Amino acid sequence: MVQQLPEHTPADRRETRSDSLYQRFLLELEQQGFAGDIENTYGQRLIAATDNSIYQRLPQGVVYPRTTAAVQLIFQLAQSDEFRPIRFAPRGGGTGTNGQSLTHWLVIDLSRHMREVLKVDVENAQVVCQAGVIKDQLNDRVKPSGFFFSPDLSTSNRATIGGMINTDASGQGSLVYGKTSDHILGLTAVLTNGEVIQTAPVPLSEARNRATGDSLEAALYRQAIESCVEQRPAIDAKFPPLNRFLTGYDLKHCYDPQQDTIDLSRLIAGSEGTLAIVTEATLNLTPIPRCKVLVNVKYSDFQAALRHAPTLVKAQATSVETIDSNVLNLAREDIIWHQVAEHLQDVDGQTMNGINMVEFTATESTLLDDKVEELIATLDAQLNSADPKGLIGYQICADATSIQTIYAMRKKAVGLLGATKGKRKPIAFVEDTAVPPEHLADFILEFRAILDSHQLHYGMFGHVDAGVLHVRPALDMTDPTDEALVRTISDQVAELTAKYHGLMWGEHGKGYRSEYAPKFFGELYPEIQKVKRAFDPENRLNPGKLATPYGSDESLQGVQAELRGHYDRQIPITMREAYQPAMNCNGNGLCFNYVPESAMCPSYKATGNRQYSPKGRATLIREWLRLNSGQDMDVSGLPPQRTWLENRFKPRLSPNDFNHEVKQAMDTCLACKACATQCPVKVDVPNFRARFLSWYHQRYARPTKDKLVRDVERLAPLLAKLPRMSNVLTHNPVTEWFLKRVVGYVDAPRLSTPALRQQWQWLTADVDEILAKPPEKLAQSVVIVQDPFTSFYDAKVVQAFGQVAAALGFVPILLRFIGNGKAQHVKGFLNEFSKTVATVGPQLQRLADANVTLVGLDSSTALCFQDEYRQFAPAGQSFTFTVNGVQAWLMQHGEKLSSAENHTLDHKRWQLLSHCTEQTAVPESAKHWQHIFERVNLELEVTATGCCGMAGTFGHEQTHQDTSKRLFEMSWQEPLARDDVGHVATGFSCRSQVKRFAGQAVEHPIQILARRVV
Ligand SMILES: Cc1cc2nc3c(=O)[nH]c(=O)nc-3n(C[C@H](O)[C@H](O)[C@H](O)COP(=O)(O)OP(=O)(O)OC[C@H]3O[C@@H](n4cnc5c(N)ncnc54)[C@H](O)[C@@H]3O)c2cc1C
Ligand code: SF4
Ligand code: SF4
Repeated sequence: MVQQLPEHTPADRRETRSDSLYQRFLLELEQQGFAGDIENTYGQRLIAATDNSIYQRLPQGVVYPRTTAAVQLIFQLAQSDEFRPIRFAPRGGGTGTNGQSLTHWLVIDLSRHMREVLKVDVENAQVVCQAGVIKDQLNDRVKPSGFFFSPDLSTSNRATIGGMINTDASGQGSLVYGKTSDHILGLTAVLTNGEVIQTAPVPLSEARNRATGDSLEAALYRQAIESCVEQRPAIDAKFPPLNRFLTGYDLKHCYDPQQDTIDLSRLIAGSEGTLAIVTEATLNLTPIPRCKVLVNVKYSDFQAALRHAPTLVKAQATSVETIDSNVLNLAREDIIWHQVAEHLQDVDGQTMNGINMVEFTATESTLLDDKVEELIATLDAQLNSADPKGLIGYQICADATSIQTIYAMRKKAVGLLGATKGKRKPIAFVEDTAVPPEHLADFILEFRAILDSHQLHYGMFGHVDAGVLHVRPALDMTDPTDEALVRTISDQVAELTAKYHGLMWGEHGKGYRSEYAPKFFGELYPEIQKVKRAFDPENRLNPGKLATPYGSDESLQGVQAELRGHYDRQIPITMREAYQPAMNCNGNGLCFNYVPESAMCPSYKATGNRQYSPKGRATLIREWLRLNSGQDMDVSGLPPQRTWLENRFKPRLSPNDFNHEVKQAMDTCLACKACATQCPVKVDVPNFRARFLSWYHQRYARPTKDKLVRDVERLAPLLAKLPRMSNVLTHNPVTEWFLKRVVGYVDAPRLSTPALRQQWQWLTADVDEILAKPPEKLAQSVVIVQDPFTSFYDAKVVQAFGQVAAALGFVPILLRFIGNGKAQHVKGFLNEFSKTVATVGPQLQRLADANVTLVGLDSSTALCFQDEYRQFAPAGQSFTFTVNGVQAWLMQHGEKLSSAENHTLDHKRWQLLSHCTEQTAVPESAKHWQHIFERVNLELEVTATGCCGMAGTFGHEQTHQDTSKRLFEMSWQEPLARDDVGHVATGFSCRSQVKRFAGQAVEHPIQILARRVV
C-alpha cells in the first residue's frame, strides 16, 4: 500500500475546535433570522485568522451582516446571560499591519455585504455609505460629480471605509487632505448593548443634555465631557501639534473649543473596533484637483533624499513621497516597471538610490505653474552647484495616467518588499513611526543604526512630508532567534521615537503594539481607559487592543503574542520549499482588488468570498501542510503511483475532512494565473493547486470531467480526423444531455470544418524532418507549435498565421501535434504532466538549439512551456527554449508588414480584448498588437478587461456556470456591445465565451492581419 494523504478531521486538530458556546450562539443567531452569512467551518475561520501582520489568531467564526439591524441583532442576542462571555472583533478589508482585526472570538466582517453607497449629496459635497465600501469604490461612485474622498492610503483598492475610520487612515497628501477623522461628518454605530447611535458634532450644552439618563449613549457623553473637556489643559500639554497626531480615542479633537462642540465620532475614529461597530458613515468630499504635476527627484543616496525633503515641502507641494533603492530595485523586477520606467529613467554615470516624488495639485494650471517652475529653478541650481548634495536629476510628469501609474508603483511598495529573496522577508512591526519632519533624516540615521546592529536588511518608503517612514526589517519568523528580535527592535524603536517626540504608530494603528500605549499616553492613559469602560464596560469588543476598561484587571496584547511564524515553523523545510508561493503570501490583500477590469482575481471577484482568493487559497494550503506535517505525511514531492486495484478502492468522501475544504477552494480557481504575476510576491496559485489536486486525488476518486479535460489532447486529434461526423456525435441532444448531467460538462466547442490539415497549404513535419532541412532554409522558417484548442477547434487562426508568415517571406511549418499538457497540469495529473514534459520538452529544445523559431497561437498554452515546463523539467535537464507569442514574433519579423490595397474589412478601428493570462504574463503584448495594426494602417484600441470567465475549460464545467457568466457580464459584455469598432480577442477560450454568451463570432487579430496583407 502506498503512503496516502491522511484525513484531517476536527478530532485531529483538537486545539482548533470551536467553542460550543459560540456554536450555540451562531445557531441561535441563524434561528432568529440574522440577515447575512454565518460561517464557521475550519477553512472559513482560517481566512479571518491573518491580516498583513506577523500575527495569526483563529476566530470562532465569522458573521457577514447585511444591515445595521443585523449587527444590532448580534449584540441584542449577546446580552443574554448565556451569551455574555462572547466577545467580538469587527473586520473590513483585513489589511491591518498589526493584527488589529484578529481575534480568538467572533469576527463581524462588514466587507462582504455592507458595500452600498447610500447617498451622494453633490450640493453639500457629502456622501453617505455603508462601512464595508472600499475606498476606491466610493471614489469611483462620486467621481462623476467632480469630488473625491481625499484621505488616501496604499490599500485604497481593498481597504474599507469602516477600517479606515477605525484606524484613522491617512497617507499620501495628508498635509493637505488630513486624516480620515478630519472628514467624518457623522457615524451610525452599534454599541455593545445593541443600542444604535448617530454621532455628529453637537454643541456642548446639547451634549450635557444628552449626558443625562440611563442609556449607554448618555454614559458616553458624560465620559466625553469628563475626559475631553475637563482634562483639556492636560491634553493640550500632552499632544504635540503633529500632522500625524495620536490616533484612537482622540481626546484632543473630541472637544472643539473654538466651536464648543463634542463629537463622539472622534473617539470612535482610530479605536480599532474596540468601542463600537460602525455600520454607516457620512463623509465630506473634496473637489478633484484637475491639474497635477509630479516631479520625480532622483538621488545617489537615500539619506540625501530625506535631508532634501523639508526643502521640497517648502515649495508648497501637496505631497512628498519617498522610496529607497531596495524598493526601486524590486519594482524594476515587477510587472509594474514597464509602465513607470520611462518616468524614472536612470541618470548616466550615476546610481539612483532614492527618489522623492513631489506632487503639485490645483484646480487651475496657472495656480501650479509658478510653484513647479520655482522648484525646477531650485533643483537646477543645486544640480549645477559644486556640491549637489546627492541630487542627481529629476523628471517631470504632467500626464494624469502616468502619474497614476507611478503612484500605483508607490502603493505597491510594501508588496514589492515582500518579494525580497531569501528566507528573511520584510515584515511590519515598526513600520510607521512618525516624527516631526525636520528631524526625520536624523531619526532614520539612528533607526538604521539599530537595524544594522542586528545585521538586518530592510526597505524604506513613505510620506516624508508628514515625517512618516515605512521601514520593514527582513526577518525569518520561522526562526526563533529572528522572532526574538521583534521584541528587541520594537523596544528600541519605541525608545527612539519617544526621544524624537514622535509616535510609534503614525499611520497603521496599534493592534498588538498596544502595549506601548500607556507609555505614549502617559498620565492621560487612565482617561483612555475610562472611555473604553464607558463604551465597553465588559471588554467584549476587540479585547486587548488599545485599552482595557478602567478598573479591569485584563491586560493588553503584547508584540510577541500569537505569531504566524509559530505555525509555519511546524511545517518541515522541504514542504515549505515545495509550496513556497503559498508560504510567501504576506496577507497584504492586493488580491482583493474589486476593479472588474483588472485581471486579479476573477474567482474572488465573482464570489466575494475570500476563501476563493489567492490569499484564501494560500492560507488553506499552509494549514493543510501543517496538518500533514502533524501526521508525518510528506507532500513535498509528487504522490506515488497507485496500482489499478488500489485506484478501484479509493475511500468514500468523508464529511468533516479538511481536505475537502481545501479542494473546494481550489476547484473555484480558474487557473488564470493572474496571481502569479499580479501578486507582488507572485503567489502562483495554479502551481500549488496542481500539487494539492494530485495528492487529493491520490486519496479520493477523480470526477469523469477531469479525465475528459486531461484527455483533450488525445481525443481532439482523433476526432478531428472526421470532424463533421465527430461534431454530429458530440453535439446532439443525447450526448449533450449525457455530458451535462452525467459528466458535468457543457457547451463543448465544435471541431473546425474543414480541419486544419484540409486547409493548411504549407509543410507539416515532425522534429526530425524539420531538423533535416539545411540551416539556411531553417533560418527562413517559422515553426508553429500546435495547441489542441486552436488547431482542432479554430483552425482558421492557424491558417491565417501561415498566410501572414508567408506574406512576410517566411516558410511556415506546422510541427506535427506533439501535445502540451497544460490541461493535465491544471487538473493536477502531475505524474502524467511530468511524462508529457519529458517527451515534448526535449523535442522543442532540439529545435531551439538548432535556432528554429517557434511560435504558439494560444498564449496560455504557449506560456506553459516557459513556466510549468521549467518547473517540471526531468532531473538533469533544463529547458531554455521559448515558444513565442504571435505578437512577439510579428514585432521582430513584421517590419515588412504593409497593407494590401485590394482588401475589404468591416472596420478600420478595432478593439482588442486580451486573454487574461497573456495580459498579466506578457503585459507588453497589447501594445505590440497596437504597433502591428498601425503598420497596416488599422487602429487598435486596447480595452481593459478582467477574465472572460472561460479560462480553458473552467467555463465549460456545469458547476461553474454562474461564476463564468457573472465574470463575462462584469467586464466583457459592455465593450462587446459597441458597434463602432470591430472586436478581436487573442484567447481561444475568450472567443468561445463570447460566442456562447454574446452570440458573436469574434476573431483573433491575426485573422484581420491576414485579410489585410494578403
Ligand atoms: C500594503 C499595505 C499598505 C498600507 N498603507 C497604508 C497607508 O498608506 N495608510 C494607512 O493609513 N494605512 C495603511 N495600511 C494599513 C491598512 O490598510 C489600514 O489600516 C486600513 O485602514 C485598514 O482597513 P481595512 O478595511 O482593511 O480594515 P481591517 O484591517 O479589517 O480593520 C482595521 C481595524 O478597524 C476595525 N474595523 C474595521 N471595520 C470596522 C467597523 N465597521 N466598525 C468598527 N471597527 C472596524 C477592525 O476591528 C480593526 O481594528 C496599509 C496596509 C497594507 C497591507
Ligand atoms: S496572495 Fe499575494 S496579493 Fe494576495 S494577500 Fe497574499 S501576498 Fe498579497
Ligand atoms: S489563478 Fe486566477 S482565479 Fe486562481 S487564484 Fe490565481 S488569480 Fe484567482
